[in-house]
Amino acid sequence: MHELSLVMNILEIAGEQMKAHHAHKLERIELEIGSLAGVEMDAFNFAWEAAVGGTDMAVTEKIIHQIPAKARCLECNLEYSIDHLFSPCPNCGEYLNELLQGKEMRIKSLTKKKKKYNYV
Ligand SMILES: [Zn+2]
Repeated sequence: MHELSLVMNILEIAGEQMKAHHAHKLERIELEIGSLAGVEMDAFNFAWEAAVGGTDMAVTEKIIHQIPAKARCLECNLEYSIDHLFSPCPNCGEYLNELLQGKEMRIKSLTKKKKKYNYV
């Protein structure tokens, strides 16, 4: 499953970041996923639950920001929303466009859990 390898990749990056910042637990992880990133959200969420089950990440709040795809027409410069890569410009019908957003697949932020200290 393609989504599982995406999840494993995210968890690996998050793990490296946590190590770098001496964090043991994450309170929240925010992801950005573009509508053209080729991620099936149900499969992604299922893979996520499977991957974090029984780990410290199981209690980490996961927030996904879905980024709608937008393109700019190379003919008339109109910016428009697209559902797939080969959507013609609604103004002039041109198929050549520059993708502005929609292929994102990245970690937006990680929130470290507040450190608890035990006083003797
Ligand atoms: Zn156009």
